[in-house]
Amino acid sequence: MAESSRSPGDPLSHALGLARAVIAHEPAGLLTDFDGTLSPIVSDPAAARLVDGAPSALERLTRRLAVVAVVTGRAPLDARRMTGVPGMLIAGNHGTEWLEPDADEPTVSAEAVALRAAVREVIARVPEMPGVVVEDKGSTASVHFRNAPDPDAALPAILEALGDVESHGLRIGHGRQIVEVRAVNLGDKGTASRAIIERFGLRGAVVMGDDVTDLDMFAAVADLRDAGELKGLIVGVGGSDHEVPRAVVDASDVVLADPREAARFLDALGRDG
Ligand SMILES: [Mg+2]
Repeated sequence: MAESSRSPGDPLSHALGLARAVIAHEPAGLLTDFDGTLSPIVSDPAAARLVDGAPSALERLTRRLAVVAVVTGRAPLDARRMTGVPGMLIAGNHGTEWLEPDADEPTVSAEAVALRAAVREVIARVPEMPGVVVEDKGSTASVHFRNAPDPDAALPAILEALGDVESHGLRIGHGRQIVEVRAVNLGDKGTASRAIIERFGLRGAVVMGDDVTDLDMFAAVADLRDAGELKGLIVGVGGSDHEVPRAVVDASDVVLADPREAARFLDALGRDG
């Protein structure tokens, strides 16, 4: 855990102090996950929305920072619809599909398009199970089992049903009550973060996430920070219904309680100066 996380005081003030110092290094940007970070985890994944206060805070930050990017496992157009904030760059499907602020459609590589049939084939193996929702996102898929009667039993059943995915060029990822089917070599939230930092020439970056899929994003910023290439702040966000994973806490400089506190953090950050 970073030195800063052991400082006393309330996490929100602490995070703000650190973030203000980071974004003073311009150009500066915000890279953030969506689900569980700025949106409370809800039973119906399609019903996720930004927590109160987050839309206006994000919109203000798009004017203040060189870039505000949502780096998410969601399909890019879903992420835009759910956030509803103009001016944000969206790196969707775990950073493999890009939606520019002014674009109507995401940019998807030929490699990602080629995986769609394989993704469909693999997820078709998952039988109907109570409380299990399969979300086909094109070149990736999510199997949500939050609402299964016994989530602990649903997980191995889902994994067994998916079976061999590697021979299709796919891999399995795990999140909070979710199984992700993703490409082996098309990138992740870490490669997306590096691409954003490089493209905008960022000297300061605040990253926010709540889950193990965000660790690649955290590591990208930590590595660049360690190399002296930028100032960075890694913010973990807890949840009201779940403990934030230990690995996320360990990789974070500071941990905010939940998406509501994350929204207050962004609101205060956007109002500075
Ligand atoms: Mg998340």
